[in-house]
Amino acid sequence: MDHFAFRDGILHVEDVPLPTIAEAVGSPVYVYSAATFRRHAQVFRDGLKDVARKHIAYAIKANPNLAVLRLLADEGYGADVVSGGEMARALAAGMPPDGIVFSGVGKTADELARGLDAGIGQFNLELEEEGEVLARIAASKGLRARATIRVNPDVDAGTHAKISTGRKENKFGVPIDQAPDMFDRLSRLPGLDLRGVACHIGSQLSDLAPLEAAYARIGELVAELRRRGHAISRVDLGGGLGVPYKPGDTFPSPADYGAMVASVTRDWDAELMFEPGRVIAGNAGVLLTRVIWVKPGVVNPYVIVDAAMNDLARPALYDAWHDFVAVQPTGERMVANIAGPVCESGDTFAMGRDIDRVESGDLAVFRTAGAYGATMASTYNSRALVPEVLVDGDRFAVVADRIAAETILAAERVPEWLAR
Ligand SMILES: *Cc1c(COP(=O)(O)O)cnc(C)c1O
Repeated sequence: MDHFAFRDGILHVEDVPLPTIAEAVGSPVYVYSAATFRRHAQVFRDGLKDVARKHIAYAIKANPNLAVLRLLADEGYGADVVSGGEMARALAAGMPPDGIVFSGVGKTADELARGLDAGIGQFNLELEEEGEVLARIAASKGLRARATIRVNPDVDAGTHAKISTGRKENKFGVPIDQAPDMFDRLSRLPGLDLRGVACHIGSQLSDLAPLEAAYARIGELVAELRRRGHAISRVDLGGGLGVPYKPGDTFPSPADYGAMVASVTRDWDAELMFEPGRVIAGNAGVLLTRVIWVKPGVVNPYVIVDAAMNDLARPALYDAWHDFVAVQPTGERMVANIAGPVCESGDTFAMGRDIDRVESGDLAVFRTAGAYGATMASTYNSRALVPEVLVDGDRFAVVADRIAAETILAAERVPEWLAR
């Protein structure tokens, strides 16, 4: 079932027609479907039905909007956070600290201390020195930090280079062959309660094979650590499951993923942690935009929309595809390039794309924009920070304001020696 559907020729999000949102909030604007978030949360959990002990920590970097986090907290999800700011969001949304995982390759001592004060349930360590520092801070507070070592299993996720994290040359994790000795040393520190290992090999994976290969290596590591006398109670399997962006793309379902996990981890006897991001958020949002001009081009016309690379960076960053659909299509088609107003050629969403025929003033959406969309937005070219709207049935609410360029300007100062 899809919560983004046409009724009487007008694209709706759940029961709300998109022109209503454009009228109330303006454009560009991200629009999320609460029902879709809930459904994805349930489908992912159902996929893991054969995993006896599990905890799902939504990777909030995919979409950290407070309202989204509240929805997922209500579904029993915890959070995977990668900064003190994300931790503050997860706590503000009402996620229990115990269910929060603190990941990230550059956690500062200050962030580690704040995590300890908040009672974070699991720190995923990226290097030995981080473990020593965490142990020291914890001991000084009379605490034991619950932690795992994130290992790099040296598996090629087969995804875009910029979102691949599990090859040995990537910056993430401890080389898997060095993990047992490091585990021996760190487990002796009184400030650490070292419970297991973690991995996350990349994002937008279209194939289960690299995940299965990584998990198999993790399984061997767990066995080796137990041979060395360590009690391993937790294994964090990360996120990474991809979603279809293009019509016709096929992806493993959460059920396929869950069946693979259940089979690989059959004998592990540990609580498994999962960190899905994109698979929960991607298809739960669209970026609503208005056509400013249709500019004649040499080869194809340029459809210039009011959304730009500062609002949705994925095409410029990863050559990503987002479907472009008119909100009130006429049935006619055109071949066009789609671009935003930003002064960069990279501010191009598509070239030579077969799309609904649109004219200046028409509304359209970029689909599958719920993950790594608004959260990556900037104000480049002194554009406003894009707002976000959550639809729930026939209700909708602005869940992040549009922050005007003037508001950002107001935070800048001309120093006194340059004053006129
Ligand atoms: C980004 C990230 C995730 C989520 O990745 P998705 O591809 O969105 O599922 C999970 N864990 C860690 C450590 C991450 O950095």
